[in-house]
Amino acid sequence: MDESTQDQAAEGTPLRGYGFCSWHDRFADNVRLIELSEAGSGGKVHYACPQCIHIFKLTTAD
Ligand SMILES: [Zn+2]
Repeated sequence: MDESTQDQAAEGTPLRGYGFCSWHDRFADNVRLIELSEAGSGGKVHYACPQCIHIFKLTTAD
């Protein structure tokens, strides 16, 4: 059962990567911080899921 260790959150931190995808407007796993120009982001932080990163050719910032 060694393969189950990946599902465990480390020491009280939230599950890494779960968040709101700004591109398809739903929560998703493994979202990444997206690097946008100030004009493109509207001064906000945006996250995208791997699928949207692929589709929209987004640049991750982390
Ligand atoms: Zn998405």
